[in-house]
Amino acid sequence: MNKDYPYLYETHLHTRSASACAKNTGAEMADSAKAAGYAGIIVTDHNWGGNTCVDRSLPWETWIELFAEGYRQTKARGDEIGLDVWFGMEAGFNGTEFLIYGVTPEWMKEHPELRRCSPAEMSSVVHEGGGIFIQAHPYREESYIPEIRLFPDIVDGVETINASNKQPEFNTRAVRYANEHELPATAGSDIHSVDLLGAGMAFSRRLTSIQDFCDQIRFGGDYILTDGRQTFDKRGALLG
Ligand SMILES: [Zn+2]
Ligand SMILES: [Zn+2]
Repeated sequence: MNKDYPYLYETHLHTRSASACAKNTGAEMADSAKAAGYAGIIVTDHNWGGNTCVDRSLPWETWIELFAEGYRQTKARGDEIGLDVWFGMEAGFNGTEFLIYGVTPEWMKEHPELRRCSPAEMSSVVHEGGGIFIQAHPYREESYIPEIRLFPDIVDGVETINASNKQPEFNTRAVRYANEHELPATAGSDIHSVDLLGAGMAFSRRLTSIQDFCDQIRFGGDYILTDGRQTFDKRGALLG
């Protein structure tokens, strides 16, 4: 890791409590992230529009409670071992996905209208709640994604480096897109098991909260990106 940016955060992580595609529990994810040297992780399980394993027919508040269980288990373990664990969500819209940071399960319970939002509507509700709305892996090509759709006017940033993308071009295109629109970049592993990929965002100081993290993205904070093998500056230029 870059010695000037020793605090690495995983921004895109799934648990099997809420993501049907994830293999491990939150506690197992926390242990492996701590062992790998992460300062913190953000749990971003799939919501009702994505590959959730929480029954979509449940009443809203019950659904949120079960959805947040992955985060809660991860945080409980993180608190024991000295790993920051924050809440997030990956929101799916027919294969197009967004990462939401800076809101809480309690806030979500008070906003059942989220369930029927379009991407633009969800972005504005999340903004009213103090959160940020980031397009995840915008150029990923997979069978579950029928078409590439871009939303430069409603997002706070773009996940330019996604370590689970199967082709490097998907990240290269995302870097170019974010730079063209002067959108802030994020990086994460999109990790679904304890076989970590080591990606994320590295900061020069320890972050104090998820709001601190959001502010770093909103207001041009000092950080670098990694895919777990190489490091990049915020505009995707290779550092080493
Ligand atoms: Zn998944
Ligand atoms: Zn994901």
